[in-house]
Amino acid sequence: MSALIDTYGRNHRNLRVSLTDRCSLRCTYCMPHDFAAWIPNDDLLTTDELITIIDVAVSQGIDEVRLTGGEPLLRPDIVEIVARIASMKNAPRLTLTTNGLRLKELAEPLAKAGLNRINVSLDTLSRERFKTLTYRDRFNDVIEGLLAGKAAGLFPVKVNTVLLQGINDDEAPALLAWAIENEYSLRFIEQMPLDAGGIWDRSTMVSADQIYADLSAHYTLTPVDGRGSAPAEEFYINGTQNTVGIIGSVTRPFCGACDRLRLTSDGQLRSCLFSIEEVDVRSVLRDANKDDAAKRSEIAARFQKTVLGKLPGHGINDPSFIAPPRPMSAIGG
Ligand code: SAM
Ligand code: SF4
Repeated sequence: MSALIDTYGRNHRNLRVSLTDRCSLRCTYCMPHDFAAWIPNDDLLTTDELITIIDVAVSQGIDEVRLTGGEPLLRPDIVEIVARIASMKNAPRLTLTTNGLRLKELAEPLAKAGLNRINVSLDTLSRERFKTLTYRDRFNDVIEGLLAGKAAGLFPVKVNTVLLQGINDDEAPALLAWAIENEYSLRFIEQMPLDAGGIWDRSTMVSADQIYADLSAHYTLTPVDGRGSAPAEEFYINGTQNTVGIIGSVTRPFCGACDRLRLTSDGQLRSCLFSIEEVDVRSVLRDANKDDAAKRSEIAARFQKTVLGKLPGHGINDPSFIAPPRPMSAIGG
């Protein structure tokens, strides 16, 4: 089958798969805390459906799959999903982004099932601030989850941090000191307008420049060459091999090198986090008039359609920008 190359020559090798829109936290920048527009259970892809779509994607050149959500570890079949992807012919590199709450019990089974690496999200070192940011008192569970990830050999454990003005914007240097001490690889992500019209405000967003300046006041940062399609700009810290990443999605877009596609938990393909349009693959899988070969071929065609509809950039900085109606938790981060 053909590679997933768009009209701007970008070859798509990375598929982000949202396993659920449900979550055990309510991070203010990701979904409104009283959000209730959950995807109906019947619309969520089954394990078999997910595996078929991922297998078709792999046959079209996808070589990295990141499982995400919502909170992917809420899926009861998470270990089975990992094991089945890891045992595919031409198995992709397999990573997972999680809030860490269930890692204490799942890190080891996931590593044994073939997971290659994890990203854990943590925005603060303060239990009180964690509660303010997530509407849940679960800070200690994340810390225990991180330790379990490391113990299970999912190394290096990456930590994703979003800074919010007036809540945790003073924590960048302390978070980096903590990450170095605990051998976590830290990346700061600029807050994006993906909270379904909630709290995002360009004028109060903590920018990549501000994060860089705050870190530079305490550390010597030297750029790492060769970013490729990676969203993070990486820096060596104090002349060591330790690095920190800054993802300037809004102020320093990297769309020109983007190689990512997304599959939502209800079976919609998206060419971008900010896509307004989606391409349905769930209905193909549930079409009683098609045999397996016809379904695979139609899914492959819909991947091509998704890629060919991809815009050159996310457009956040265009005056005509419209944020997607789904929050990040339902798209898959
Ligand atoms: N629940 C998992 C977690 O929190 O890691 C996976 C899904 S979450 C949507 C994936 C990543 O997206 C997290 O690191 C989170 O911090 C980030 N994220 C969510 N909303 C965001 C926003 N509006 N801007 C930037 N990053 C965001
Ligand atoms: Fe849940 Fe992750 Fe969104 Fe936080 S960032 S609400 S943990 S999906």
